[in-house]
Order: sequence, then C-alpha cells, then structure tokens
Amino acid sequence: MARRALITGITGQDGSYLAEHLLSEGYEVWGLVRGQANPRVSRVRKLLQDVQLVRGDLLDQGSLISAVEKVRPDEVYNLGAISFVPMSWEQAELTAEVTGMGVLRMLEAIRVCSGISSRTAAGSDQIRFYQASSSEMFGQVRETPQAETTPFHPRSPYGVAKAYGHFLTQNYRESYGMFAVSGILFNHESPRRGAEFVTRKVSLGVARIKLGLASELRLGNLEARRDWGYAGDYVRAMHMMLQAEAPEDYVIGTGRTQSVRELVEAAFSAAGLDWEQYVVCDQALHRPAEVDLLCADPKKARVQLGWEPSVSFEELVATMVEADIKLLSEGGDPDQDSSWP
Ligand code: NDP
Ligand code: GDP
Repeated sequence: MARRALITGITGQDGSYLAEHLLSEGYEVWGLVRGQANPRVSRVRKLLQDVQLVRGDLLDQGSLISAVEKVRPDEVYNLGAISFVPMSWEQAELTAEVTGMGVLRMLEAIRVCSGISSRTAAGSDQIRFYQASSSEMFGQVRETPQAETTPFHPRSPYGVAKAYGHFLTQNYRESYGMFAVSGILFNHESPRRGAEFVTRKVSLGVARIKLGLASELRLGNLEARRDWGYAGDYVRAMHMMLQAEAPEDYVIGTGRTQSVRELVEAAFSAAGLDWEQYVVCDQALHRPAEVDLLCADPKKARVQLGWEPSVSFEELVATMVEADIKLLSEGGDPDQDSSWP
C-alpha cells in the first residue's frame, strides 16, 4: 500500500514542491485547502493533477479532526501559515491564531484521532508529524552560525508564533511520545515564491525593468543578511526528517549568508543591468524590528540525514530572474493561476 501524506499549505510554494516530491516517491498525497472558492486551489490542481484535496482550516479544530479522520494519513506536514513577516505586525492576532495556535489544533487532531492520551502513549505505527519551523525564531542572533541549540529571540509576531509552534511540537513529542519533529528552515526560494518576499520581488522587478515595464525597484533594508537556498532542496529535507529512526529537530540551510544588496547585484547582473541605476531605497519598507543576520549550521542534517543543498545562491538568483523574464514576456501574471510552471 502506498504511504499517505496530508499537507497543510499545499497551495503555497513549499506545499507544491513537497507534493511533487512525495508523488515521485510513490505517496498518495492529500492537500488541506480552505475557503469556499479558494483561487489558489486551481493552481495546484493544474500543477499536481494527482493530489486529492480535503477541506479544512487551521483556525477550525473540528475541520482538522474531520480531515485526519477522512484521510487517515501516515504523515502530516504542517506548512500552512501566515508566512509574510511584515503582515504579522499588521495582523498580529490572526498570525498567532494561524501560525501558532494552528499547530496546536493540528497536533490535537492527530492526538484525538489516534486515541493518544497521557495514559495511552503513541504506538509504533503512529501518524508522523512535521512542523514548518523557521530561522525567524532566532531573530536577534546571539551566535553565528545558528544550530539546533542556538537560543531564540524572535523579532516579529511571526517569529513569536513560530516559536510557540516549535516548543509545542517538542512538548507533544515529550508528553505523548508522538513522532513530531520541527525543521528549522532558513529562507528558501524558487520561481514559485510569493511576490512579496524579497528574492521574488527583486527577480520580478528586474524582469519588469529588462522588458521596459518599469523604471525602478523600491526596496527597504539592503544590509540585512539571509541564508538563501532552493525550496526544492528543502522539501527533500522535510521528508527525510519523517523517515529518520527517531523524532528530532533539524536546522536546514546552506551555511552561506548574503546581504540583500548582494542579492540585488546578482539579480540585475544576471539580466545584464547595473542595479545602482534602478534601485530606490524606501524607508517605508523598513521593519519595526529587523533580523540583521541569519546563517545556518546544517551539520546535524548533513551527518544524520545525509541532506545537502544542490543549488547555489548564484544559480538560484539567475534561475528566478530567467523564469520571471520568460513569464512576463509571455504575458503571465505572477498573481494569477497561469503564472505557475
Ligand atoms: P506560503 O506563504 O507560500 O504558503 C502558506 C500556505 O498556508 C498557503 O497554502 C495558505 O493557503 C496556507 N494557509 C494560510 N492560512 C491558512 C489557514 N488558516 N488554514 C490553512 N492553511 C492556511 O509559504 P511557504 O510555502 O513559503 O512556506 C511553507 C511553511 O514554511 C510556512 O509555514 C512558512 O511559515 C514556513 N517557512 C518558510 C520559509 C521560506 O523561506 N519559504 C522559511 C521557514 C519557514 P491559501 O492559499 O489558502 O492562502
Ligand atoms: P523574511 O526573512 O522571512 O522576512 O523574508 P523576506 O524575503 O520578506 O525578507 C528578507 C530580508 O529582506 C528582510 O531583512 C527584509 O527587511 C529585507 N528587505 C529589504 N527590502 C525588502 C522588500 O522590499 N521586501 C521584503 N519582503 N523584504 C525586504
């Protein structure tokens, strides 16, 4: 029998890559989708014709129990979240509910459907649970690079909500013996990245300028540094974590860090343009509190899981710029269904 996976956040960047990866591994893949007429669902249908959809919302405990009862998954990947950091200041309570409390609701759905209690520990054939934790939990870093043991100091309501979900996942593992793990993933990108994140904003901006559709690109803090990798590599790590013998948390990143300025330089130069002629620094795009530097120490994942990233920063940026030039020159719209490869 094929193993069965349930993915929350299947309409997002990682959900689509993970679904493709699990299908290629022979899984039966189910995606949790919300809303009456969710516009992003049709995007997934086209991309992943072999995925089955089940209705549910991380805000609604009953819907998650129903989804787990219906799908009876072997593995649950909780990728659903409000994931854009600036939005988490504008909608802090909603972020706490979806990105933080949503983890509690999903863990409870698994616990209740599996008949696990403090007296009845999880069995060996239990549902395995993956939580999408984030390097934003490190926030104001006290050591570099950041490993599994580095203390957290989140700098946004998003980071705080992720830290709650992270500790709760550990707590369910320790309290109930559940196979529940967190991947502490550093920034990962692709041509499917949301248009509001800086890498995609830059690749789309470069494409618009190259095609004569725009004359400038407005950005915020150019000095922030991130460890940027390729999303396709990172979903492989999620799957590997759930195949490990024991449930443990892992940091996933490349171990290299670049500034937004270096990202901008690389992206414009991939299109044969000089960034200084086009980029405008806009104070309004700076954040109330910034995460200045992130750089992963992915040694544990390399040694214990055999995980390695396969795409360099330079390749990633060039691929995104190329994909957006192609998309826009063919009349595609990054916010519409037709935009996905
Ligand atoms: P996206 O923003 O692309 O996708 C978020 C997903 O969450 C969407 O499918 C969205 O569905 C879903 N969602 C939002 N609200 C709800 C809700 N109330 N109930 C159920 N689903 C909901 O994120 P990514 O794919 O980039 O990231 C996946 C996960 O990994 C997220 O949890 C993110 O925070 C985390 N992460 C991402 C990193 C990155 O660099 N990409 C780094 C570290 C962690 P809809 O289409 O309906 O809006
Ligand atoms: P994050 O690390 O999850 O917040 O991912 P983002 O891609 O949203 O932001 C990465 C870094 O780029 C942050 O330090 C931002 O402050 C910085 N940045 C600079 N200008 C911009 C911008 O215009 N948009 C976004 N999203 N980020 C920007």
